[in-house]
Amino acid sequence: MKTMNSSKETHGISRRHFITTAGLATAAICLAPRRLFAGTVSPVTTIREAAATAKITITKLRGNVSVLEGSGGNIGVLAGRDGKLLVDAGIPGTRKGITEALTSIGPEPVRHLVNSHWHFDHTDGNEWLYSEGAEITAHVNTRKHLSEETRVADWQFTFPPAPAGALPTREFTDEYKLHLNGTTLALKYYLPAHTDSDISVEFPDADIIHVADTLWNGYYPFIDYSTGGSINGSIRAAEDNVIRTTSNTIVIPGHGPVGDRSDLIKFRDMLVEIRDRVSVLKKKGMSLAEVVAAKPTADYDAKWGTWVIDGKTFIWLVYQGV
Ligand SMILES: [Zn+2]
Repeated sequence: MKTMNSSKETHGISRRHFITTAGLATAAICLAPRRLFAGTVSPVTTIREAAATAKITITKLRGNVSVLEGSGGNIGVLAGRDGKLLVDAGIPGTRKGITEALTSIGPEPVRHLVNSHWHFDHTDGNEWLYSEGAEITAHVNTRKHLSEETRVADWQFTFPPAPAGALPTREFTDEYKLHLNGTTLALKYYLPAHTDSDISVEFPDADIIHVADTLWNGYYPFIDYSTGGSINGSIRAAEDNVIRTTSNTIVIPGHGPVGDRSDLIKFRDMLVEIRDRVSVLKKKGMSLAEVVAAKPTADYDAKWGTWVIDGKTFIWLVYQGV
């Protein structure tokens, strides 16, 4: 997936843009208006293929917790005598790079995997890691979406049921605690936000939280209305994240660089402001095209719209939910 015949701009995002940004975090799954990809390859396919050449970077955080970036969503790693625990599984195209990164952290095998939500850029590696001996823990809705055929309209993609070896082996509905490697991990359901399966994974001893795709740090996020996501649910989760953290907390986002509480606040404030602006315009009876023409995100786009979701696409995602 090195060359693209078409870089035709549609709604502000080109396929070429996809390929170049795909290397950055491989899967920041763009999720643009469905017509954007009409007649073209789904971004799901593009991102899966791009993962083969993605570079994995390792960052040590605190208390035996590290983060791997470059294969789908950010992968949290807790190392220790009970085996490694991963938060999210990446994309198998990057298996070699992930394996090398994990080996550089320590020799112990992966024994536990937590899925932050059901999206492919966080779960495609499930079958591989299960075959290596990992238990898989996730919210019940992650197991549900992986178990059955699931279409994401904005990606123009229908996911077939995942193979049995990719399904979570342990599921929960509200909260779940894991005790291993001398510490405790607290898993908590957000209620529907980016999807209806998002959970946070807290490492209380290290004061680190992986917040799934309820934070795209510094970027407009995708919102998956096809499986229960919404702008208002996303805002509720963003507010929850601010309440649950302090200035000492290290925040691992689903996509974008590792951050802190100030990033959560900026992200929440951006979501609220744009939701309010788009809502006012829609309630005046304006069509999507009219709202886009009014440029309600103009003063945000240079900062937030530089990755896979640009201002126009984000307006579409907000407009659907107000
Ligand atoms: Zn996602």
